[in-house]
Amino acid sequence: MAHQHLGEFGDFSLSVLVTSPPWYENCYLVTHRPSGALAVVDPGGDGARLREAVATIGATPAMILLTHGHPDHLGAAAEIETAFNIPTRAHVDESPVIAAASDLNRAFTGQPQIGPARLETFSGEPVEHLGGAEIRVIQTPGHSPGGVCYDFGPFVLTGDTLFRGGVGRTDLPGGSERKLWDSIDRLLGMVGDDATLYSGHGPAWTVAEARRWWAMAG
Ligand SMILES: [Zn+2]
Ligand SMILES: [Zn+2]
Repeated sequence: MAHQHLGEFGDFSLSVLVTSPPWYENCYLVTHRPSGALAVVDPGGDGARLREAVATIGATPAMILLTHGHPDHLGAAAEIETAFNIPTRAHVDESPVIAAASDLNRAFTGQPQIGPARLETFSGEPVEHLGGAEIRVIQTPGHSPGGVCYDFGPFVLTGDTLFRGGVGRTDLPGGSERKLWDSIDRLLGMVGDDATLYSGHGPAWTVAEARRWWAMAG
């Protein structure tokens, strides 16, 4: 399946490429249209398809962003780094998870995995830049210790912290149910009322829908 164009959001154009089984992970391609700069968020696999999607979109990759370091979110990072000469950026607290991704992948699939070779870490909640636009980093530990969400304003990429009608698992190394709950509380208080939430697996939902659901579930 080719990548899918999800829409135009202000200066941003958003597309998704769903990776192959068994993970069906949502890799998001965010283009800052005024500059043509593109961020590849969570390149979980299917490197050749991703490169083809980037070529079709016709933008210039500037960086890879990771919401977190599980193997289903970074399997194609090394290939994309090399293909476009770009770094991979992630929260520093996620470094041990990224380092262990190959082992975790082997545990799940029997196969080792090549991790990012050009990892750049950030700490706290910096503002990331894409072609002059600002991306707010929101720390959301719980599914993993250094998990983050990327708030572009009209949309937020929530990784495996929050799915439509569900939350991320907390049984993997470094996971914490209490922290995840606190993170979701805080996240839903920070994001814009009219924003759309795009998660690491499955369909999107609105902040309004998420808040209603969380008020009942949380
Ligand atoms: Zn995960
Ligand atoms: Zn995932």
